[in-house]
Amino acid sequence: MSRILVTGALGQLGSELTAELRNIYGAGNVIATDIREPNEQIGEGPFEHLDVMDKARIEEVIEKYDVTIIYHLAALLSANAEQNINLAWKLNMDGLLNVLSIAREKNLERIFWPSSIAVFGPDATKKNTPQNTPTNPTTVYGITKVAGEQWCAYFYNKFGVDVRSLRYPGLIGYKSLPGGGTTDYAVDIYHKALAGETFSCFLKNDTALPMMYMSDAVKSTIELMQADEEKIKVRTSYNVAAISFTPEEIAGSIQKQIPDFEIEYEPDYRQEIASSWPDSIDDSAARNDWGWKHEFDLDKMTEDILKNLPNVIEKAES
Ligand code: NAD
Repeated sequence: MSRILVTGALGQLGSELTAELRNIYGAGNVIATDIREPNEQIGEGPFEHLDVMDKARIEEVIEKYDVTIIYHLAALLSANAEQNINLAWKLNMDGLLNVLSIAREKNLERIFWPSSIAVFGPDATKKNTPQNTPTNPTTVYGITKVAGEQWCAYFYNKFGVDVRSLRYPGLIGYKSLPGGGTTDYAVDIYHKALAGETFSCFLKNDTALPMMYMSDAVKSTIELMQADEEKIKVRTSYNVAAISFTPEEIAGSIQKQIPDFEIEYEPDYRQEIASSWPDSIDDSAARNDWGWKHEFDLDKMTEDILKNLPNVIEKAES
Protein backbone atom coordinates (compact mmCIF):
# COMPACT_ATOMS: atom_id res chain seq x y z
CA MET A 1 0.00 0.00 0.00
CA SER A 2 1.34 3.44 -0.94
CA ARG A 3 1.92 5.95 1.85
CA ILE A 4 1.72 9.58 0.76
CA LEU A 5 3.44 12.64 2.20
CA VAL A 6 2.28 16.14 1.19
CA THR A 7 4.56 19.15 1.80
CA GLY A 8 2.98 22.62 2.00
CA ALA A 9 -0.26 20.78 2.77
CA LEU A 10 -1.94 23.79 4.38
CA GLY A 11 -1.62 25.98 1.28
CA GLN A 12 -4.29 26.89 -1.26
CA LEU A 13 -3.68 23.77 -3.36
CA GLY A 14 -2.37 21.53 -0.58
CA SER A 15 -5.44 21.77 1.62
CA GLU A 16 -7.80 20.63 -1.16
CA LEU A 17 -5.41 18.06 -2.61
CA THR A 18 -4.72 16.54 0.83
CA ALA A 19 -8.45 16.24 1.58
CA GLU A 20 -9.05 14.48 -1.78
CA LEU A 21 -6.03 12.16 -1.38
CA ARG A 22 -7.41 11.19 2.06
CA ASN A 23 -10.80 10.41 0.48
CA ILE A 24 -9.16 8.16 -2.09
CA TYR A 25 -6.34 6.46 -0.14
CA GLY A 26 -7.63 6.65 3.45
CA ALA A 27 -6.85 9.36 5.99
CA GLY A 28 -4.14 7.34 7.77
CA ASN A 29 -2.19 6.87 4.53
CA VAL A 30 -1.80 10.58 3.76
CA ILE A 31 0.62 12.53 5.98
CA ALA A 32 0.04 16.27 5.81
CA THR A 33 3.07 18.47 6.59
CA ASP A 34 3.69 22.21 6.71
CA ILE A 35 5.52 24.86 8.75
CA ARG A 36 2.16 26.30 9.87
CA GLU A 37 -0.26 24.91 12.46
CA PRO A 38 -2.83 22.45 11.04
CA ASN A 39 -6.44 23.43 10.36
CA GLU A 40 -9.57 21.31 10.02
CA GLN A 41 -9.81 21.82 6.26
CA ILE A 42 -7.38 19.01 5.46
CA GLY A 43 -9.60 16.60 7.44
CA GLU A 44 -8.69 13.93 9.97
CA GLY A 45 -5.31 12.26 9.60
CA PRO A 46 -1.64 12.50 10.54
CA PHE A 47 0.07 15.90 10.56
CA GLU A 48 3.77 16.66 11.04
CA HIS A 49 5.51 19.99 11.34
CA LEU A 50 8.11 19.89 8.55
CA ASP A 51 10.37 22.49 6.95
CA VAL A 52 11.32 21.25 3.47
CA MET A 53 14.71 22.97 3.72
CA ASP A 54 15.59 20.49 6.52
CA LYS A 55 16.55 17.26 4.71
CA ALA A 56 17.12 15.26 7.91
CA ARG A 57 13.61 16.11 9.11
CA ILE A 58 12.06 14.98 5.80
CA GLU A 59 13.95 11.68 6.14
CA GLU A 60 12.73 11.27 9.72
CA VAL A 61 9.07 11.71 8.72
CA ILE A 62 9.46 9.39 5.74
CA GLU A 63 10.90 6.68 7.98
CA LYS A 64 8.30 7.17 10.68
CA TYR A 65 5.39 6.58 8.27
CA ASP A 66 7.05 4.38 5.59
CA VAL A 67 6.27 7.00 2.96
CA THR A 68 6.49 5.87 -0.69
CA ILE A 69 5.04 8.87 -2.59
CA ILE A 70 5.62 12.61 -2.08
CA TYR A 71 3.52 15.51 -3.36
CA HIS A 72 6.02 18.33 -2.89
CA LEU A 73 4.02 21.58 -2.94
CA ALA A 74 5.86 23.90 -0.51
CA ALA A 75 7.15 26.98 -2.35
CA LEU A 76 7.18 30.77 -2.34
CA LEU A 77 4.73 31.99 -4.99
CA SER A 78 5.27 34.56 -7.74
CA ALA A 79 4.32 37.90 -6.15
CA ASN A 80 5.84 37.02 -2.75
CA ALA A 81 8.98 35.68 -4.42
CA GLU A 82 9.61 39.06 -6.08
CA GLN A 83 9.58 40.60 -2.58
CA ASN A 84 12.14 38.09 -1.22
CA ILE A 85 14.27 36.69 -4.01
CA ASN A 86 16.85 34.95 -1.81
CA LEU A 87 14.26 33.04 0.20
CA ALA A 88 12.42 32.17 -3.04
CA TRP A 89 15.55 30.61 -4.53
CA LYS A 90 16.46 28.79 -1.33
CA LEU A 91 13.00 27.44 -0.52
CA ASN A 92 11.98 26.54 -4.07
CA MET A 93 15.33 24.94 -5.01
CA ASP A 94 16.64 23.39 -1.77
CA GLY A 95 13.20 21.97 -0.99
CA LEU A 96 12.96 20.27 -4.38
CA LEU A 97 16.55 18.99 -4.36
CA ASN A 98 16.05 17.56 -0.87
CA VAL A 99 12.93 15.70 -2.01
CA LEU A 100 14.50 14.43 -5.26
CA SER A 101 17.68 13.29 -3.47
CA ILE A 102 15.68 11.42 -0.85
CA ALA A 103 13.52 9.81 -3.57
CA ARG A 104 16.71 8.56 -5.21
CA GLU A 105 18.40 7.40 -1.99
CA LYS A 106 15.31 5.66 -0.61
CA ASN A 107 14.07 4.43 -3.98
CA LEU A 108 10.64 6.03 -3.50
CA GLU A 109 7.82 5.01 -5.82
CA ARG A 110 6.79 8.43 -7.21
CA ILE A 111 7.11 12.21 -6.74
CA PHE A 112 4.81 15.05 -7.78
CA TRP A 113 6.15 18.59 -8.08
CA PRO A 114 4.22 21.54 -9.54
CA SER A 115 5.73 23.88 -12.07
CA SER A 116 3.85 26.91 -13.41
CA ILE A 117 3.03 28.97 -16.49
CA ALA A 118 5.58 31.35 -14.91
CA VAL A 119 8.30 29.37 -16.74
CA PHE A 120 7.30 31.37 -19.84
CA GLY A 121 8.62 34.87 -20.43
CA PRO A 122 7.89 37.66 -22.92
CA ASP A 123 9.50 35.78 -25.85
CA ALA A 124 7.18 32.75 -25.56
CA THR A 125 4.24 32.52 -27.98
CA LYS A 126 1.49 34.39 -26.10
CA LYS A 127 -1.61 32.63 -27.40
CA ASN A 128 -1.90 28.85 -27.09
CA THR A 129 1.66 28.70 -25.78
CA PRO A 130 3.06 25.35 -26.94
CA GLN A 131 4.61 22.68 -24.74
CA ASN A 132 8.01 23.40 -26.25
CA THR A 133 8.77 27.09 -26.67
CA PRO A 134 11.43 29.37 -25.12
CA THR A 135 11.36 29.42 -21.32
CA ASN A 136 13.04 32.71 -20.47
CA PRO A 137 11.12 34.00 -17.43
CA THR A 138 11.57 37.50 -16.05
CA THR A 139 10.58 36.61 -12.45
CA VAL A 140 12.61 34.82 -9.79
CA TYR A 141 9.65 32.47 -9.30
CA GLY A 142 9.80 31.57 -13.00
CA ILE A 143 13.57 31.02 -12.77
CA THR A 144 13.05 28.56 -9.90
CA LYS A 145 10.36 26.71 -11.88
CA VAL A 146 12.53 26.43 -15.04
CA ALA A 147 15.46 25.14 -12.97
CA GLY A 148 13.13 22.80 -11.07
CA GLU A 149 11.78 21.30 -14.30
CA GLN A 150 15.32 20.57 -15.44
CA TRP A 151 16.15 18.94 -12.09
CA CYS A 152 13.07 16.72 -12.44
CA ALA A 153 14.08 15.59 -15.93
CA TYR A 154 17.68 15.06 -14.71
CA PHE A 155 16.66 12.86 -11.77
CA TYR A 156 14.37 10.84 -14.05
CA ASN A 157 16.95 10.38 -16.82
CA LYS A 158 20.02 9.82 -14.61
CA PHE A 159 18.60 8.00 -11.62
CA GLY A 160 15.18 6.70 -12.73
CA VAL A 161 13.26 8.77 -10.14
CA ASP A 162 9.62 8.71 -11.33
CA VAL A 163 8.95 12.42 -10.83
CA ARG A 164 5.93 13.94 -12.58
CA SER A 165 5.03 17.57 -12.99
CA LEU A 166 2.37 19.98 -14.27
CA ARG A 167 2.72 23.62 -15.30
CA TYR A 168 -0.35 24.88 -13.48
CA PRO A 169 -2.07 28.04 -14.64
CA GLY A 170 -3.53 30.38 -11.96
CA LEU A 171 -5.51 28.24 -9.52
CA ILE A 172 -8.89 29.47 -8.28
CA GLY A 173 -10.55 27.95 -5.23
CA TYR A 174 -12.98 29.17 -2.59
CA LYS A 175 -12.02 26.89 0.31
CA SER A 176 -8.83 28.69 1.33
CA LEU A 177 -7.12 31.99 0.65
CA PRO A 178 -4.35 32.19 -1.95
CA GLY A 179 -0.70 32.49 -0.96
CA GLY A 180 0.63 35.57 -2.77
CA GLY A 181 0.46 34.80 -6.49
CA THR A 182 -0.26 37.07 -9.47
CA THR A 183 -3.59 35.39 -10.18
CA ASP A 184 -4.91 35.84 -6.61
CA TYR A 185 -7.25 38.61 -7.81
CA ALA A 186 -9.49 35.94 -9.35
CA VAL A 187 -10.15 34.55 -5.84
CA ASP A 188 -10.47 37.90 -4.02
CA ILE A 189 -12.99 39.16 -6.57
CA TYR A 190 -15.62 36.62 -5.42
CA HIS A 191 -15.18 37.63 -1.75
CA LYS A 192 -15.76 41.31 -2.63
CA ALA A 193 -18.72 40.49 -4.88
CA LEU A 194 -20.45 38.56 -2.09
CA ALA A 195 -19.67 41.33 0.44
CA GLY A 196 -21.40 43.84 -1.88
CA GLU A 197 -18.17 45.83 -2.28
CA THR A 198 -16.53 47.31 -5.37
CA PHE A 199 -13.49 45.23 -6.31
CA SER A 200 -10.23 47.04 -6.95
CA CYS A 201 -8.24 44.88 -9.38
CA PHE A 202 -4.43 44.99 -9.39
CA LEU A 203 -4.37 44.01 -13.10
CA LYS A 204 -5.65 45.93 -16.13
CA ASN A 205 -9.12 45.12 -17.49
CA ASP A 206 -7.86 43.27 -20.59
CA THR A 207 -5.06 41.14 -19.07
CA ALA A 208 -5.88 37.60 -20.18
CA LEU A 209 -4.30 34.79 -18.14
CA PRO A 210 -4.64 31.00 -18.17
CA MET A 211 -6.60 29.81 -15.12
CA MET A 212 -8.03 26.61 -13.65
CA TYR A 213 -10.69 25.85 -11.04
CA MET A 214 -9.24 24.07 -8.00
CA SER A 215 -11.26 20.89 -8.45
CA ASP A 216 -9.81 20.57 -11.97
CA ALA A 217 -6.30 21.19 -10.57
CA VAL A 218 -6.77 18.41 -8.01
CA LYS A 219 -8.21 16.11 -10.70
CA SER A 220 -5.31 16.77 -13.12
CA THR A 221 -2.74 16.11 -10.38
CA ILE A 222 -4.24 12.82 -9.26
CA GLU A 223 -4.82 11.62 -12.84
CA LEU A 224 -1.20 12.39 -13.77
CA MET A 225 0.04 10.51 -10.70
CA GLN A 226 -2.23 7.51 -11.38
CA ALA A 227 -1.31 7.24 -15.09
CA ASP A 228 0.74 4.25 -16.25
CA GLU A 229 4.43 5.13 -16.43
CA GLU A 230 4.71 4.55 -20.20
CA LYS A 231 2.10 7.26 -20.82
CA ILE A 232 4.26 9.95 -19.21
CA LYS A 233 6.35 11.22 -22.09
CA VAL A 234 7.19 14.72 -20.82
CA ARG A 235 9.65 14.56 -17.93
CA THR A 236 10.20 18.29 -17.45
CA SER A 237 6.60 19.40 -16.87
CA TYR A 238 3.31 19.15 -18.79
CA ASN A 239 1.37 22.23 -19.93
CA VAL A 240 -2.16 21.93 -18.48
CA ALA A 241 -4.99 24.29 -19.24
CA ALA A 242 -8.66 24.83 -18.59
CA ILE A 243 -9.88 28.41 -19.07
CA SER A 244 -8.41 31.77 -19.96
CA PHE A 245 -10.05 35.11 -19.09
CA THR A 246 -9.46 38.80 -18.37
CA PRO A 247 -10.53 40.69 -15.20
CA GLU A 248 -13.32 42.24 -17.29
CA GLU A 249 -14.59 38.80 -18.32
CA ILE A 250 -14.61 37.33 -14.79
CA ALA A 251 -16.43 40.48 -13.60
CA GLY A 252 -18.98 39.93 -16.41
CA SER A 253 -19.46 36.32 -15.31
CA ILE A 254 -20.13 37.48 -11.71
CA GLN A 255 -22.52 40.19 -12.93
CA LYS A 256 -24.70 37.48 -14.52
CA GLN A 257 -25.41 36.37 -10.92
CA ILE A 258 -24.90 39.67 -9.04
CA PRO A 259 -25.90 42.45 -11.50
CA ASP A 260 -24.88 45.31 -9.15
CA PHE A 261 -21.29 44.10 -8.80
CA GLU A 262 -18.68 46.69 -9.79
CA ILE A 263 -14.96 46.47 -10.57
CA GLU A 264 -12.29 49.18 -10.91
CA TYR A 265 -8.69 48.85 -12.05
CA GLU A 266 -5.56 49.95 -10.16
CA PRO A 267 -2.66 48.00 -11.69
CA ASP A 268 0.41 47.58 -9.47
CA TYR A 269 3.76 45.70 -9.75
CA ARG A 270 1.88 42.46 -10.45
CA GLN A 271 0.77 43.83 -13.85
CA GLU A 272 4.34 43.52 -15.08
CA ILE A 273 4.49 39.87 -13.97
CA ALA A 274 1.12 39.11 -15.61
CA SER A 275 2.13 40.86 -18.85
CA SER A 276 5.17 38.59 -19.14
CA TRP A 277 3.02 35.42 -18.99
CA PRO A 278 0.97 33.69 -21.73
CA ASP A 279 -2.69 34.53 -22.45
CA SER A 280 -3.60 30.89 -22.99
CA ILE A 281 -1.90 27.50 -23.09
CA ASP A 282 -1.78 24.59 -25.55
CA ASP A 283 -2.04 21.45 -23.42
CA SER A 284 -2.55 18.92 -26.21
CA ALA A 285 0.40 16.80 -25.00
CA ALA A 286 -1.34 16.23 -21.62
CA ARG A 287 -4.66 15.54 -23.36
CA ASN A 288 -3.09 13.06 -25.81
CA ASP A 289 -0.60 11.33 -23.49
CA TRP A 290 -2.68 10.65 -20.37
CA GLY A 291 -6.18 11.85 -21.28
CA TRP A 292 -6.39 15.22 -19.49
CA LYS A 293 -9.82 16.90 -19.78
CA HIS A 294 -11.02 19.86 -17.73
CA GLU A 295 -14.56 20.13 -16.40
CA PHE A 296 -15.13 23.78 -15.39
CA ASP A 297 -15.51 26.76 -17.72
CA LEU A 298 -15.73 30.34 -16.39
CA ASP A 299 -19.50 30.53 -15.80
CA LYS A 300 -19.69 27.04 -14.27
CA MET A 301 -16.85 27.97 -11.90
CA THR A 302 -18.51 31.28 -10.96
CA GLU A 303 -21.83 29.53 -10.19
CA ASP A 304 -20.08 26.94 -8.04
CA ILE A 305 -18.05 29.51 -6.09
CA LEU A 306 -20.95 31.91 -5.50
CA LYS A 307 -23.06 28.96 -4.27
CA ASN A 308 -20.45 27.54 -1.86
CA LEU A 309 -18.30 30.46 -0.70
CA PRO A 310 -20.97 31.98 1.62
CA ASN A 311 -20.92 28.76 3.74
CA VAL A 312 -17.11 28.89 3.99
CA ILE A 313 -17.17 32.56 5.04
CA GLU A 314 -19.96 31.91 7.58
CA LYS A 315 -18.04 28.98 9.08
CA ALA A 316 -14.82 31.03 9.32
CA GLU A 317 -16.66 33.84 11.12
CA SER A 318 -18.50 31.62 13.61
P1 NAD B 1 0.53 28.45 -0.92
O1 NAD B 1 1.45 29.62 -0.75
O2 NAD B 1 -0.92 28.65 -0.71
O3 NAD B 1 1.01 27.26 0.02
C1 NAD B 1 2.36 26.94 0.23
C2 NAD B 1 2.46 26.24 1.58
O4 NAD B 1 3.84 25.95 1.79
C3 NAD B 1 1.98 27.10 2.74
O5 NAD B 1 1.03 26.39 3.52
C4 NAD B 1 3.26 27.39 3.53
O6 NAD B 1 3.03 27.47 4.94
C5 NAD B 1 4.11 26.19 3.17
N1 NAD B 1 5.54 26.46 3.34
C6 NAD B 1 6.21 27.63 3.17
N2 NAD B 1 7.50 27.49 3.46
C7 NAD B 1 7.68 26.18 3.81
C8 NAD B 1 8.79 25.41 4.22
N3 NAD B 1 10.01 25.96 4.34
N4 NAD B 1 8.59 24.10 4.48
C9 NAD B 1 7.38 23.54 4.38
N5 NAD B 1 6.27 24.23 4.03
C10 NAD B 1 6.42 25.53 3.73
O7 NAD B 1 0.81 27.86 -2.39
P2 NAD B 1 -0.18 27.00 -3.31
O8 NAD B 1 -1.01 27.97 -4.09
O9 NAD B 1 -0.87 25.97 -2.52
O10 NAD B 1 0.87 26.36 -4.32
C11 NAD B 1 1.36 25.05 -4.15
C12 NAD B 1 2.33 24.74 -5.26
O11 NAD B 1 1.68 24.90 -6.53
C13 NAD B 1 3.57 25.63 -5.29
O12 NAD B 1 4.69 24.87 -5.66
C14 NAD B 1 3.26 26.63 -6.37
O13 NAD B 1 4.42 27.14 -6.96
C15 NAD B 1 2.45 25.78 -7.33
N6 NAD B 1 1.57 26.59 -8.17
C16 NAD B 1 0.51 27.26 -7.62
C17 NAD B 1 -0.28 28.06 -8.44
C18 NAD B 1 -1.44 28.83 -7.88
O14 NAD B 1 -2.11 29.56 -8.62
N7 NAD B 1 -1.75 28.71 -6.59
C19 NAD B 1 -0.02 28.15 -9.82
C20 NAD B 1 1.08 27.47 -10.34
C21 NAD B 1 1.87 26.66 -9.52
